[in-house]
Amino acid sequence: MESQNHYDVIIVGSGAGGGTLTYHLASSGKRILLLERGDYVPREKDNWNSRVVNAEGKYNTKETWRDKDGKELHPHTNYYVGGNTKFYGAALFRLRKEDFGEIRHFGGVSPAWPISYENLEPYYVKAEQLYHVHGQRGEDPTEPPASAPYPHPPVSHEPRIQQLHDDFKRLGLRPFHVPLGVQLDEKNQHVSKCIRCSTCDGFPCLVYAKSDAQVLCVDPALAYPNVSLVTNALVRRLETDASGREVTRVIVERDGQTATFSGSIVVVSCGAINSAALLLRSANDNHPRGLANGSDVVGRHYMGHVNSVLMAISKCLNPTVFQKSLAVNDFYFGSKEWNYPMGHISFVGKLDGDALRGGAPALVPGWTLDQMGRHSLDFWLTSEDLPDPNNRVTIDRDGKIVLSYTPNNDEGHKRLIEKLKSLMKQQTKCGIHGHECHEGLFSRNLYVGQRIPLAGVAHQNGTIRFGHDPKTSALDQNCKAHGVDNLYVVDGSFFPSSAAVNPALTIMANALRVGDHLLERLK
Ligand SMILES: Cc1cc2nc3c(=O)[nH]c(=O)nc-3n(C[C@H](O)[C@H](O)[C@H](O)COP(=O)(O)OP(=O)(O)OC[C@H]3O[C@@H](n4cnc5c(N)ncnc54)[C@H](O)[C@@H]3O)c2cc1C
Ligand code: SF4
Repeated sequence: MESQNHYDVIIVGSGAGGGTLTYHLASSGKRILLLERGDYVPREKDNWNSRVVNAEGKYNTKETWRDKDGKELHPHTNYYVGGNTKFYGAALFRLRKEDFGEIRHFGGVSPAWPISYENLEPYYVKAEQLYHVHGQRGEDPTEPPASAPYPHPPVSHEPRIQQLHDDFKRLGLRPFHVPLGVQLDEKNQHVSKCIRCSTCDGFPCLVYAKSDAQVLCVDPALAYPNVSLVTNALVRRLETDASGREVTRVIVERDGQTATFSGSIVVVSCGAINSAALLLRSANDNHPRGLANGSDVVGRHYMGHVNSVLMAISKCLNPTVFQKSLAVNDFYFGSKEWNYPMGHISFVGKLDGDALRGGAPALVPGWTLDQMGRHSLDFWLTSEDLPDPNNRVTIDRDGKIVLSYTPNNDEGHKRLIEKLKSLMKQQTKCGIHGHECHEGLFSRNLYVGQRIPLAGVAHQNGTIRFGHDPKTSALDQNCKAHGVDNLYVVDGSFFPSSAAVNPALTIMANALRVGDHLLERLK
């Protein structure tokens, strides 16, 4: 007789990868169990309180990791139903077509993926539909070919951002609307779920209008009687049969008790760092270096992007509420003067004094943090970091995660910052001070640059790479573990290279692709 604790598919982790996959499999009628270490994000006014969310870090995990020198690390990550999509900025980009091939960077080589852009393209379309992406094709100069339009019109720019757009255009750039997963209906505001607020990027959406994995995937999946979710279920270990070729038991810690489940197929999707940690912790006689780690790549090649928040502070106020609508990719693959990729320029959500207190830049002389927040344009710059085998996740003697990372490939990033500085100095379109403002901007334009520190693991990826060769990758093309017949990974771990745009849409699209493979297999 089959045990009540046996499922056709067990999915561990309910974020961009696991949540999307659960939704995709739900209508199959198969018995599906979703295990999530966190609970639902409580719906409360604090969701939108900048001080509570940023300065106090109310929703961040309190777990600590260590860096390579053994120093304690407080990771900026979140364990909830929906994973980090509950907190993300919902900028939902496709990787560029070229990102799937090998790219030469100043700092080394970004390796090719085992699948092509064309393999993923139909799933990008589906992911954009599922996550209600608002955007405009044809504006972004590096945009890959798409077989369908965005399902919703772009999110409009507020006046200060439109002014910046006009300045950038005048300077010969091709700024574009960020593809965004917010359920905003600007034409019919009275029925719009999204109210276009200033507390989106980094905050959970109190009105459930952000396109996150809980609202759009986990909740609808749970409407099917064959799908179950267990929250506060921390998966500690995966055990295999005697041959080591099949995961037979999923060991869960819940409310201080141990529970065991089994699945014909087990899918790990805990985020790139926790998934690697889970496989490493699941070492056994057949897998002495960690489950599915015959190649010794599990945990290695951690990438998290070279990211900076750069505040351009000007004489003018920046009254923008929803700032994250504009991006620039003109330097993604390089520039006239520099023949190597530099990266992507866009925005974070509007910073305020409280947000700045939570990860404070050095105070600009003569300015309070509140003033800085009122006058700043808050840029987010992303460049690609390269997969270095020594940048890795390991487990120390106490069972704690250790994240060892040495930055690489930052010359392109430095040049991207210089580009932005020079562009900002050439602004002329201020409607308040006219050209005077432009002069004033020169003297008072202050750039407070802060490389995101190691604890900023928002864009974590790459630790369980997929590939053709079991000697150099842990997963095959379908994201199945090379050495284990029923184990899959669908979070950001599978990336062999990180590209320089935000990762979530690619994780979602890939989960749909792997989902099709699983549906075929489960037939
Ligand atoms: C503030 C912020 C802003 C961001 N903005 C953007 C953006 O604008 N665009 C973009 O593309 N990306 C953005 N990201 C990144 C994006 O959220 C991630 O790329 C994406 O959520 C990763 O998906 P995932 O499936 O790999 O992992 P996650 O979404 O992190 O999901 C992993 C899940 O696994 C659970 N879990 C972990 N370990 C275990 C375990 N042992 N047992 C059971 N469950 C476990 C976690 O609780 C979590 O729910 C942002 C992230 C943050 C934090
Ligand atoms: S209402 Fe709109 S802008 Fe505000 S958090 Fe929700 S999705 Fe984001």
